[in-house]
Amino acid sequence: MLRQPLLMLARSTRLKNLATAMPVSSGIVNRYVPGETTESAVEATRALIADGLHVTLDFLGEDTLDREQADHTVAAYLDMLGGLSDQNLARNAEVSVKLSAIGQALPGDGEKIALENARTICHAARNAGTTVTLDMEDHTTTDSTLGILHELRKDFPETGAVLQAYLHRTEADCRDLAHEGSRVRLCKGAYKEPESVAFQDRAEVDKSYVRCLKVLMSGQGYPMIATHDPRLVDIAGALATRYERMQGTYEFQMLYGIRPDEQQRLAEAGEKVRVYLPYGAEWYGYLMRRMAERPSNLALFLRSLVSKK
Ligand SMILES: Cc1cc2nc3c(=O)[nH]c(=O)nc-3n(C[C@H](O)[C@H](O)[C@H](O)COP(=O)(O)OP(=O)(O)OC[C@H]3O[C@@H](n4cnc5c(N)ncnc54)[C@H](O)[C@@H]3O)c2cc1C
Repeated sequence: MLRQPLLMLARSTRLKNLATAMPVSSGIVNRYVPGETTESAVEATRALIADGLHVTLDFLGEDTLDREQADHTVAAYLDMLGGLSDQNLARNAEVSVKLSAIGQALPGDGEKIALENARTICHAARNAGTTVTLDMEDHTTTDSTLGILHELRKDFPETGAVLQAYLHRTEADCRDLAHEGSRVRLCKGAYKEPESVAFQDRAEVDKSYVRCLKVLMSGQGYPMIATHDPRLVDIAGALATRYERMQGTYEFQMLYGIRPDEQQRLAEAGEKVRVYLPYGAEWYGYLMRRMAERPSNLALFLRSLVSKK
């Protein structure tokens, strides 16, 4: 019941300003976001890799309407990729990028700016020996993001896509993208979406996830199964057996701080597991989406806000 209002608050500038005045180290924020700096992100990456996990790093930020901010985000990615390469971590760590953080929403030629910025990050990732995945944001950006993906893949075919099972269109998008060499992350979807484009009922979203997963697992691409849902993790395992996929021809992905024991269990069972690791000062929107998924965490968050520890 709280999900929709919380997703609306994720876009509230007033609450964002209040919340981001507190340091990332406070209370519940730190559970989901290990730090604000490149150093803290690289350090957290090293620890996860030492535990047998893989990582995808996200420099937090979204909905940028400011060219300078977009440039700052690109620079942060380049700095982080340099850090991963210097510390020999790039083999096991890639990066996730939100196009709205690098200019997609800028008026005029936002899409073009985002494409050029994404190219710059893809170049740096390739030089570091790793890859980029384009996060998927709300449904108004889906066509634009898939268009930019298509352009990027001409030069960087290794670029990963993200598809959201809650959208009606996604099963068809999975069919389009389930080809050889195509890395596709399937998630449920984290934004507040209208009935006209998205399933609203959780059971319908789960059923859609399974249909999409069947398309990806039976296809020629590289599925990245992004969920913490135990039933879907089991179904993914069963589909791997049904379609005779070896471990390592697909991977599981989970968010930093969510079900870490399950991440470890899967890795110890020989599965490839990648942890999505967000960092940076712009954690507000990301954290509110996590609150919407687990409203029981909200009390903890509000307490952190009040005490500003
Ligand atoms: C690697 C990765 C990348 C993602 N990228 C995107 C993206 O690009 N675009 C996008 O829209 N969404 C993205 N998401 C978010 C995704 O869409 C869901 O919102 C999120 O993963 C919760 O869905 P779930 O599949 O885990 O299922 P849910 O039904 O939400 O959760 C299943 C179980 O997981 C645990 N759990 C889930 N959330 C929490 C939480 N916040 N705190 C504690 N426990 C929790 C609980 O045990 C819960 O019962 C990504 C998720 C992952 C894991």
